[in-house]
Amino acid sequence: MYIMKIQSFIQTSRFINYQNQYINRNYSDFGINSPKFSPISQPSFDTVSFKRKQDGPFISDMRELPNLTCACCGIKMMKNSDVNYFLNKKIYYPANISLRRIKTEQYFKESKVSEPMKQAYILLKEYADHNPNLTMDEILSKRTIKDARKTLPQDVSEAFEDIRDMTKLVEHNSKYMVSAINELNPHFHKLEKKVFNELQELSKKYPNDTFYDILNKPNVYKHYEHNLVQKEIDILDKISEYIENAPQEFKTQTEEKIAIAKDIFQNESKDIYHKRGRVISMFSDFLKENPNEYSNEIQKMINQLPDSKTDVDAFMIKGSQKSSNAIVEILLNRVRNTFEHVKPHRRIGDNGPNSIYNYIGLCGKCNGERQRTEYDIFVQSHPEMIDNTQKQIDKIIYYINSGILTKHDLYPDKIQKALDVESKGKIKININKLDLQKAKTNRTIRQQEYNYRKKLQNKK
Ligand SMILES: [Zn+2]
Repeated sequence: MYIMKIQSFIQTSRFINYQNQYINRNYSDFGINSPKFSPISQPSFDTVSFKRKQDGPFISDMRELPNLTCACCGIKMMKNSDVNYFLNKKIYYPANISLRRIKTEQYFKESKVSEPMKQAYILLKEYADHNPNLTMDEILSKRTIKDARKTLPQDVSEAFEDIRDMTKLVEHNSKYMVSAINELNPHFHKLEKKVFNELQELSKKYPNDTFYDILNKPNVYKHYEHNLVQKEIDILDKISEYIENAPQEFKTQTEEKIAIAKDIFQNESKDIYHKRGRVISMFSDFLKENPNEYSNEIQKMINQLPDSKTDVDAFMIKGSQKSSNAIVEILLNRVRNTFEHVKPHRRIGDNGPNSIYNYIGLCGKCNGERQRTEYDIFVQSHPEMIDNTQKQIDKIIYYINSGILTKHDLYPDKIQKALDVESKGKIKININKLDLQKAKTNRTIRQQEYNYRKKLQNKK
């Protein structure tokens, strides 16, 4: 309700001029793998990036290695700094603009706005006006702001977060969004590519509306809802067919559950997550209490109910409840390079350490999927993981040997052992290509090249 309220004010026509002004801004300093961004002061990497966390000519954060592929699904992941750069420079409005726009909203004039919020607003606005190109995320990550917040009353400091959330609701129209995301399309998984295509088609029809507004248009919403419900009913009908010859009592009880599930999918309004979750747990509980030769297969079938990670219609329905910026964040987070704890961090009674030697790189999507499942079991449903983990470690070894990655010399050996233990011998990694002597030589060369280029640059 709250989000929709803010959404609606932001979309009022008096803001359209702002929006157009902003869209016309020149973003020529942006691009992925575009050669023009090769900074002369830095040695060449095999892809070029706009922003890179590094110590001089070296990288020490594995999430910043270019072209690293997911150890599970094998897609080319996006570096963290690239994702953040994209969101802050392409998607979010600068804070000075978004703060002005939320102020014009009735919300801020109502007595509802707390005193701490007003104070936080004034402080942020002042900072944003002096730093006009920074987004709210960037401002809040500044050391000076972090320190300043510690000196403020707690309720004012907390209000900073509320204001951050509000500014994220200041959004570009779909035409702008589609042209921005288009550059990332090659990074996406299959499903996210489909989602992008849908959004692109919709934006041709409604270029000046936001994704949020488009997905909430009754005709658009009904289209995806219809498709989704159809798929859900199909699965339930298949279960009906499957139990045709089952024992009478079991069959009757299952049919009852199917009828309840159909009613939930067909007659209840929105909120897809909730519905799917409820139906799955209803069946799981029932099948656990009534195990027989049919129950495993029924459970498998019911798990195939579409969700936003596997199905485009489900994604669009979920998206209709999100802000447009949040939709883009979801797409990006699914290809972001994230740390996967080989031994799960939150395994009850036996925590995996927060150590680099317990990490491999998984895309956000795969990382969300594994949870705490043991590797020997997870690998059964994801057999490609064995090859893809080897590919990733090979790449990391290449970066070590070439002198690019530092502070990880012990990594291949330690991660090999961690994977072996966690997967009960199912994931065996070969690290024979590691050559620390070569790494040492290459690091010296890189440092010399770096110093030389820096010297050249200083002369200019
Ligand atoms: Zn993956």
